[in-house]
Amino acid sequence: MKAKFFIRFLVSTVFLILFNFQIVHSDDYTERIADDLRPGTRDYYTYCMSHRDYGIDIYELNENTFVSDLDGNEFQVDVKPSCNFSRRLNDTDIRGVVIHYTNGSSQSAYSWWQNQYPGTSAHYIINRDGSIIQSIPEIYAAYHIGCYWSDDLCGNCPDRLCSNKGYFYDPEETTIAIELENAGPVFPDAGWYADIFHNPIPRDSVIFVYDGSDPLYHASIYYEAFSEKQLEVLEKLLSNLESRYGDLIILGHSDIQQVSVDPGPAFPRTKFFTDRSD
Ligand SMILES: [Zn+2]
Repeated sequence: MKAKFFIRFLVSTVFLILFNFQIVHSDDYTERIADDLRPGTRDYYTYCMSHRDYGIDIYELNENTFVSDLDGNEFQVDVKPSCNFSRRLNDTDIRGVVIHYTNGSSQSAYSWWQNQYPGTSAHYIINRDGSIIQSIPEIYAAYHIGCYWSDDLCGNCPDRLCSNKGYFYDPEETTIAIELENAGPVFPDAGWYADIFHNPIPRDSVIFVYDGSDPLYHASIYYEAFSEKQLEVLEKLLSNLESRYGDLIILGHSDIQQVSVDPGPAFPRTKFFTDRSD
C-alpha cells in the first residue's frame, strides 16, 4: 500500500509540475505582451484582456483607460476607450492611414465601439468642430476594415499595406484608422437633411451636391461636406503621424475594400490621398 501511495504521490507531483510548467509556458506570451507595453496602456490592456470575452462594463473601462498618443498641447483630444483591438504582428510596422466617415455623430460611433465585441473600432475620430476622440492606442490594430486576411474583399489594397512575401497581409495590421464625424449620404427631410438613420444633421453643416458621375456613390446626390476645421486637423494629425512613422500611404476605406463607399465623394481626395498612378 505504501508503495502504491508513493507512486500515486509521485505521479500526481509530476503531473502538477508538468501542468504548472504548461501554465507558466502558455503565460509567456501574455507576459511578453505585458512587458513591452507603453506604461500608459497597461491598465487598459489588462482590463480589456480580462473582460472582453465576458462583457465590458463601460464605467470600469473608462476607469482603466489609456494615455493618448497625441500631445494635449497640440490637439484637443479625449480618450473614449474601446476593447475592439488586437496586437499588431509587429508593433512598429505602421505604413498607412485609412480614412473613414462615421455615418452619424461621433458619440454614436465610439459608443458602438465600446459595446460591441467582436466589433468595430478606429484609432481616431475627428469631430466636426476639430476636436479628437481616441479609442484605440496606435500600438494596437483597430477593427476598421474587415479584409479577413483575404484579398477577396480587399483586392485593391496596395502591396505596401497588404503584401507580405507574396501573401495577403491584413491592412488592419499596418494602418491607423481615422474616422471623420460626418453623415455621408444625406436626404432632404423636414426642410433640412437627415442621415441614413433619419437623424437630422447639424444645421450649420454644408451640403455637398454630387454630380453622380461615379456609380460607387449611388446612395444619394447629397452628401454632408467635411468641415474646414475638421480637414485642418486631419492635415495636422497626418503630419504628426508621418513625423513619428515616416512616409505613410493615405487612402480611403473604399480605395482598399471594394464594398465600402466612405469617405465618399465630398472628401477632397487629391489633397489628401497618395497618388496610386505611380
Ligand atoms: Zn469605413
